[in-house]
Amino acid sequence: MDDSLRVSVLSEALPYIQRFAGRRVVVKYGGAAMAHAELRDAVFRDIALLASVGVQLVVVHGGGPEINTWLKRLEIPSEFRDGLRITDSETMDVVEMVLVGRVNKQIVNGLNRLGAKAVGLSGSDGLLVEARPWGDGSHGLVGDVARVNPDLLEPLLARGYVPVISSVAANPEGESHNINADTVAGELAAALEAEKLILLTDTPGILRDREDPDSLIRQLRLSDARQLINEGVVAGGMTPKTECCIRALAQGVAAAHIVDGRVPHALLLEVFTDAGIGTMVLGRG
Ligand code: ADP
Ligand code: MG
Repeated sequence: MDDSLRVSVLSEALPYIQRFAGRRVVVKYGGAAMAHAELRDAVFRDIALLASVGVQLVVVHGGGPEINTWLKRLEIPSEFRDGLRITDSETMDVVEMVLVGRVNKQIVNGLNRLGAKAVGLSGSDGLLVEARPWGDGSHGLVGDVARVNPDLLEPLLARGYVPVISSVAANPEGESHNINADTVAGELAAALEAEKLILLTDTPGILRDREDPDSLIRQLRLSDARQLINEGVVAGGMTPKTECCIRALAQGVAAAHIVDGRVPHALLLEVFTDAGIGTMVLGRG
């Protein structure tokens, strides 16, 4: 790229930078964007760039594949029900060690290497997230969000730190629970009055036909999103994503996006272009 092209591209980013400087964006980081080194680096660069132009970013992460690897290595068998791992205390120990220890620090180190000031936290820190059992409680330590309290994040965001939050949180009795990271991201976005919630995943977005990547739904309203769940168009791992978009929008987040983390620089494409990528869910109506 020659120098004049480089500066003109930068210059065109000005209105987007001005629009988002000082605003909050919550990113759920996972899937291929976490698994592949090149994509991982692109995501870290995007986050570092957005932070350096004054966007207040909060990163929430899961880490399912890494948990699977360690459970296998430690020969701890898993039983699944409703697509969820029944989580006993031995399994939860591994989940917590892997997510809060290893995965969280990999993200923090990756961001810091690029000059972002990342701070690793879990839902337990500063009582950011209070957990309750998921559903009827028969999945053990699989949790849901009872409430969030983002007070701890305020001074960090005000000073330009990037909080990186693993989706583990304790109930009032102090027992750690494993919570879906989409759900945590959605609730935090709502509590922080974020401008955007961006969920990175391994599909182009919400597909009308989940076998057909060309059937991407580019934009939909809150009410349509509910209908897609009721009709069964949205199922499996897309359900908590769609549900958390609905909840975040209902609580005042302006827009929620489900985007393809396999696309390099998906985050910048979403924030710095009008067209955006993936599925955008809009509030109102
Ligand atoms: P992540 O690791 O990003 O949370 P998940 O596997 O939990 O990803 O959720 C994404 C999955 O949801 C897709 O891979 C797909 O199998 C499933 N899915 C169900 N319904 C849809 C839909 N309508 N459009 C796209 N994906 C869907
Ligand atoms: Mg998921």
